[in-house]
Amino acid sequence: MSLNEFDIIQQYFSLLTRPRKDVMTGIGDDCALLVPETGKILAVSTDTLVVDRHFLSDVDPASLGHKCLAVNLSDLAAMGAEPCWVTLALTLPEVNENWLDKFSQGFGELANQHKLQLVGGDTTRGPLSITLTVHGQVEQDKVLKRDGARVGDLICVTGTLGQAAQALNNIINGTSVSEKARKALEWPQPRVTTGIALKGQATACIDLSDGLIADLGHICSASKLKAEVEKSAIPGLGNDESLLEPVLTGGDDYELCFTFPEKHKDRLAQIAEQTEVSISVIGRMGEGQGVELIDDAGLIMEMTDKQGYMHFS
Ligand code: ADP
Ligand code: MG
Repeated sequence: MSLNEFDIIQQYFSLLTRPRKDVMTGIGDDCALLVPETGKILAVSTDTLVVDRHFLSDVDPASLGHKCLAVNLSDLAAMGAEPCWVTLALTLPEVNENWLDKFSQGFGELANQHKLQLVGGDTTRGPLSITLTVHGQVEQDKVLKRDGARVGDLICVTGTLGQAAQALNNIINGTSVSEKARKALEWPQPRVTTGIALKGQATACIDLSDGLIADLGHICSASKLKAEVEKSAIPGLGNDESLLEPVLTGGDDYELCFTFPEKHKDRLAQIAEQTEVSISVIGRMGEGQGVELIDDAGLIMEMTDKQGYMHFS
């Protein structure tokens, strides 16, 4: 290796993100020392991305740096937590300075956009793998969980669904990918400000990483209720039946899906405007279990709870 572990940390990571006042010690000691705000609880989430499993080795390293952080920030958003600190465990097969340059740039830009400080990590040699742990803070009485949905609550989603899954399908099949879809796949925008705006207001929330049916299913099982979803209200679906699968079960959306008390529904438009994200009401929570999809004729479409939809007969 031309650069050793310490050179890599020094050159690419030590000064990558802007310092926060609540970091007593960041990169450089045995532990990071962090000072959480009095009265708030910590929200912590870890994700690992492994080459050839979660991404291809020839992926644009800048988009990889962005995306590995975006998927973690999306978890904080889903809890209504404000992003604060992140650690990065990086396993590299070799020292490729061009790769490190771009990766750290994609990572750093998104981190700084959300005032997140990189406070530590680990650098090792091996098959390319990236593990991030993000830490956020939120008031205990406002945190968004999966188990708080109530009968009659509106079911809402941010943005448009299915674009990332569609782009991935197209790439795999060698068909053309629209710029918009490629951006959704490679540069997802975590809905951090919307999640924070929803804290204390939404009754349950999850981020869409595995597809609407599976993820909304988690809200249903945690809240012990049923979700009744109007197919025609799902953003991104339109009349194109070929979009059904990516939109319902595709994953990689990193939009928020949340339940919201109907009596406060006027606030949804305000939150959408304030945080510059569209919000669509797609259904309502009811007694029962699982996700029910209702088609244009008012008929219930068959679903499985694990894999998403099965047949639509
Ligand atoms: P130790 O041997 O005490 O675990 P390391 O030599 O692994 O420490 O790391 C030295 C410092 O650099 C530590 O503060 C660690 O958190 C930080 N660090 C190591 N790798 C990274 C990385 N990829 N990104 C950010 N900080 C890192
Ligand atoms: Mg170490």
